[in-house]
Amino acid sequence: EGVWRLLRLGVSVHEDPGKDFWCVSEALLKEIARVLEFPVASMLPPEAFTVVRKSFDARKLQKEPKFVYTVDMDVRKLVSLEPRTWEFISELDQKAGFIEFLHHESISGDLMSTIRNHRKIDDTASAREVHSNHVTGGYKFPATRRPKVVVVGSGPSGLFASLVLAEVGAEVTLIERGQAVEQRGRDIGALVVRRMLQLESNFCFGEGGAGTWSDGKLVTRIGRNNSSVLTVLKTLVHFGAPCSILVDGKPHLGTDRLVPLLRNFRRYLQELGVTIRFGTRVDDLVVKSEHIVGVKISDSRDQSEACCQKLGCDAVVLAVGHSARDTYHMLLSHNVDVVRKDFAVGLRIEHPQELINSIQYSGLASEVQSGRGKVPVADYQVAEYVNLRDVDTLSKSDSTSRSCYSFCMCPGGQVVLTSTDPSELCINGMSFSRRSSRWANAALVVNVSSKDFDALNLSGPLAGVEFQRTFERKAALMGGGNFVVPVQTATDFLENRLSVTSVPPSSYRLGVKAANLHKLFPVRITEALQHAISMFDKELPGFISNNALLHGVETRTSSPIHITRRSDTCESTNLKGLYPIGEGAGYAGGIVSAAVDGMHAGFAVARNLGLYDGSI
Ligand code: FAD
Repeated sequence: EGVWRLLRLGVSVHEDPGKDFWCVSEALLKEIARVLEFPVASMLPPEAFTVVRKSFDARKLQKEPKFVYTVDMDVRKLVSLEPRTWEFISELDQKAGFIEFLHHESISGDLMSTIRNHRKIDDTASAREVHSNHVTGGYKFPATRRPKVVVVGSGPSGLFASLVLAEVGAEVTLIERGQAVEQRGRDIGALVVRRMLQLESNFCFGEGGAGTWSDGKLVTRIGRNNSSVLTVLKTLVHFGAPCSILVDGKPHLGTDRLVPLLRNFRRYLQELGVTIRFGTRVDDLVVKSEHIVGVKISDSRDQSEACCQKLGCDAVVLAVGHSARDTYHMLLSHNVDVVRKDFAVGLRIEHPQELINSIQYSGLASEVQSGRGKVPVADYQVAEYVNLRDVDTLSKSDSTSRSCYSFCMCPGGQVVLTSTDPSELCINGMSFSRRSSRWANAALVVNVSSKDFDALNLSGPLAGVEFQRTFERKAALMGGGNFVVPVQTATDFLENRLSVTSVPPSSYRLGVKAANLHKLFPVRITEALQHAISMFDKELPGFISNNALLHGVETRTSSPIHITRRSDTCESTNLKGLYPIGEGAGYAGGIVSAAVDGMHAGFAVARNLGLYDGSI
């Protein structure tokens, strides 16, 4: 009885049928038969097997790169087999290492229907009656009024929180300082072509949040088999993502798929009755008796007027991302609990994609065919723990160990500007679904902590923000303005020289300028990067080259603060009715983890407001 999971089934590149993720091919059936020690592969009924994961494994330690599958086997569907073969089935648990029993509820149900089964409102559109007379934070909702929730920010966390809250029957207003994807696309076009940075509609601000013009990687450290992650991925499929993201070992969407997906998400929220206000910024909170009772908002494009409007509500979900520095300051003015958090800073390295393909795949590199081939465009992930002698004169007591790692690698992508202020310069990477550009870029970052902020005499809860700003301003000056990015070849960076004044080409559209990037960061960060890059070259021979171009500066890897909240209710530790969520509050890092946090927080808020009684 039951479902068994078959692990690490390898199929060679030449035998694999290609991009059809669901296909239980002949080659895969042969491999399944081998693992089951079942003599005749062709007798196995394909309908008994479901592919749940497919990855490309090109690690050097194995003889030949191959596709590696994880497959679920439903024993009940093997009944067509002759009785003698049941003997091997009874021995399944002895084939340890390749097979494990799977609990029946391995994949969670559809998010929307799960919510509907547990919500305490008859119907979100018509019967607007809250059954419970719930008391929360001293506030009692009358039986006939739906609780009003303001969600600030339409990134993954804000969108998923809005979805859950609207489904359970809250009256949701989603406020986004940036523009809807259609206008945001035009604003980003004007930035890339005419160097016009819209302060409120750019790579960080606007519908879908920071991840819209991105590579759309959907990998997360939470783990692919986590049911919340699967629920988020299934919801993305519901809104138009390809089903392959449920199976692909390293799923990614790319900007071209994210934009229509977000339009569908928006339409669905509007059908549920969510009021969405783009180009509207939350400037302040309205607090009464230590409880939020509303927000002050203004038109984010109209800087001339302080046209503040008040919006009353019962709860505010704050999903503002890591670049809402003005919002962080506003929180401090209300004495909301905010503490510093470690994060990472560094440089973005770019190589020709062909070079990365050949480092990773050797002979198979030609099979990549600009994202059209069977073999995926090559990526990499590197990490080192670097031990340095104490070189810093400012902080002799500083620890000499730092972790250095690659971050947000974009195969077949381009380097983009993520500044939100023209006097600052910071970058990141994006790509389209086919990952077909000539370039591969990734951030190489070093962890930084309070000791680093103290060394620059930066104090207070926002010391990390000031730390980021310091290097963003320095990078802008080193580039000479106009969003030109300072760059240095990896070879020169390792030798602390500037031998190449005519730099190799870069995918960055607003121009690059040769500079000695040793002048950017404190020496201990630079040295950690130098050591790490040397070590990465041992793992990926050819990583250091004159064609590898380091771009400055990567500072917004994650939030530099924690807006502290209660673990059970997700409510701020000292302001009732405020729910800080997502990356900006320090509870997520990346699209999927932000969406998961938004979903969980949505349920927690719904519970607090008496709208939901199911489990999360
Ligand atoms: P955000 O997505 O940052 O959303 C916050 C939203 O709040 C923004 O839209 C902002 O405009 C709005 N806002 C802020 N302040 C206010 C205010 N006062 N009033 C109203 N609205 C406000 N992650 C991945 O997992 N995979 C990737 O491939 C990837 N690539 C990336 C590429 C780029 C260029 C960037 C910038 C980021 C990338 N990330 C990627 C990171 C990912 O985008 C974030 O981790 C994720 O978007 C965080 O989600 P969030 O909802 O917490 O915040």
